[in-house]
Parts: sequence; C-alpha cells; structure tokens
Amino acid sequence: MVPQRIKVTRMAGAGLARGYDAERQRVKASRKWYASKAWRQKRAMQLASEPLCAMHLARGEVVAATVADHVEPHREDWAKFWEGSLQSLCAACHSRDKQRGEAQR
Ligand SMILES: [Zn+2]
Repeated sequence: MVPQRIKVTRMAGAGLARGYDAERQRVKASRKWYASKAWRQKRAMQLASEPLCAMHLARGEVVAATVADHVEPHREDWAKFWEGSLQSLCAACHSRDKQRGEAQR
C-alpha cells in the first residue's frame, strides 16, 4: 500500500509541473515539437535526402549537414513548423543564419 501522504504530495507535484509546462509551452511551443518523434523522423528524412550543407554547397563547398533548418522562420507557428520547407545546414551555418534572423536584416 502507498501511504496516503505520499500520494497527495505526488499529485500536488504533478499539478505544479503541469502549470510550469503550460507556461513554457506558451513561451516556446517548438521546444516540444523539436523533442517529438515526428520531428526526429522529419529531420532524419531531410538530412537523408539532402546530406550536404545548403549554404556551403552554394559556395561550391562540400560540408556534411547536421541540422534541418526551416527556410522560413516558423516563429512558433504550428503549420510553418510542420509544413514549411526545410534545408540542410551544418551547425556553423545554422547558428550564423539564426543570428542574421534575429538582427532582422
Ligand atoms: Zn555550412
């Protein structure tokens, strides 16, 4: 038998965790999307079909891609995240691309 006291404590903890998750989700829904199995499959398919970094390739350089990047920033939009087109990038180009996006150029 599980003592009643522990059961109540666990329920209270779950409630707190839910509230915390809801708060995080409001801030960044994509955190959950990136962690999903569906995204991992989508990402794997992107990297399988385009295994080279698109930005390096545009300069005639061959670098293995490790990131499936949204061509158009999804900005936490469900449809853009899941249906927007992707490009394969290496980690260096991906972080450079992100900085450019945040600078709103
Ligand atoms: Zn690159």
